[in-house]
Amino acid sequence: MAAVQWDHDKPKVRLKEQEEQLREYVAHHLYPYSPAYRRRFDAAGISPRSITGFDDLAKLEPTRWSDVTNEPVAFVLRPTERAIIRFGERRLVGAITRAKFRGKVSQVNRDLIDPAYKPIHWHFDGDVPIGYSAEDVERLCEAGRRVLHLAGLTRDDAIVDVTPSGPSLEFWQLVDGARSAGLSAVHFGPEVAADRIAAAAPTVLAGPPDALEATLEGLRAGKHRIEGLTTLLVLGSLLDEADRKALRILGEAVGEQGLEVVAAWAPAGVRALWSECRGGRYFHTYPDMEWLEVLPDGEIAWTSISWHGTVFFRLRTGVSGKVDDVTCENCGRTGPRITVSSASSARRPSPTWALGSGLVAAPAARPAADAVFGRPPVEEVEDEVEVEEEEAAEVLVPIDTEVLAVLDEHPGVAAWQAEYRRVEGSDELIVFVAPAGVDRLGPLFRELDLALSATQYVVQRPDQIAERRRREGAVVDNR
Ligand SMILES: [Zn+2]
Repeated sequence: MAAVQWDHDKPKVRLKEQEEQLREYVAHHLYPYSPAYRRRFDAAGISPRSITGFDDLAKLEPTRWSDVTNEPVAFVLRPTERAIIRFGERRLVGAITRAKFRGKVSQVNRDLIDPAYKPIHWHFDGDVPIGYSAEDVERLCEAGRRVLHLAGLTRDDAIVDVTPSGPSLEFWQLVDGARSAGLSAVHFGPEVAADRIAAAAPTVLAGPPDALEATLEGLRAGKHRIEGLTTLLVLGSLLDEADRKALRILGEAVGEQGLEVVAAWAPAGVRALWSECRGGRYFHTYPDMEWLEVLPDGEIAWTSISWHGTVFFRLRTGVSGKVDDVTCENCGRTGPRITVSSASSARRPSPTWALGSGLVAAPAARPAADAVFGRPPVEEVEDEVEVEEEEAAEVLVPIDTEVLAVLDEHPGVAAWQAEYRRVEGSDELIVFVAPAGVDRLGPLFRELDLALSATQYVVQRPDQIAERRRREGAVVDNR
């Protein structure tokens, strides 16, 4: 699969590559692992394979932000083992099957599944937790790097950041982006004294508009002149022309004449801030990571075609405007640009949920919210509170008898009984099987094991198993 180029492919060529990425994403990531979207696809009677191009998205009802705030946890991708085996990429299915033979499933989790899927970084859009897997953090680094390049910065620039530190996209995308681009940055936060900022001699001041304004006012009041200050990077907020002009005048009073104001912003739910190119008045977006469409009512919808963790598809952004895929007359990059004509909110929602109650003591009204922090569940238990892996050995997890259905369904099984045991703190599953018309037991057990992950198979005659079941039932829990 050819990688989608974000800033110089011909739109027609790129569209083909994006559609290929969309198909792969829907079939192997979104539908299998997103409880929220699997439900939506199923309810609408849409097969994930019927999505072949962006025109097909119209079949799916757009997602409203209120849908997200109602059940944020359902929007986190959860690759359960069964879903991986049913829908996953061949590479993963193969790795899991091989690992099971060697009893090394935890290694597959650690080496393959966790980097792609396990959310290891979180921030909040309002009260919605947005999770990033290790691979997502790489994407965020890349998107952050692009913002700095779009803003016209180079490795010689030095950033003083006055964004309040905390679990917000704007803070972390700048941190990750500056590291990734190799730029010097100091994240002071908004309360720092003017002479400390002056001493840092920044060429760039970054932060939300109110913090930038207060910082510049402080510098001006202290009669500081910052030579080489040429850029104000406004994070997480739209600017109208009056705001922009006021900031520029304030900036020039402290820094250089001709200082430029560049804004980076994205609505809630969008996984990386878009940025204006230096001197432009439109946001460049990331066609290798996302798809933007204007809905019939004029609102722009956002669709992930690459992100894991907390994932949205056809999300209503509250933004009206124009999406055009052209070569930018200002910076020369080719790719989708957004010109915002109106937005339901000019400021990104600040991380309210994280304040006050704290992450651990989740308020009672949101019992599921804290369950999201941790490894995706091993078994597919809808809306159950997940158990951390370390605890799993100590806590009796409910037996997932649903997987045993394979024993009823498999034509090679005449009779069976399943017994759960606990050996040295871990659960074991012993399956007693009477084979039916099978010459070779190896392939039979391999097929069963894709669903079961049993510790051991014991072959018995049908009458022996019938006797066991009379005595103990079909499923024995000896834990
Ligand atoms: Zn441009």
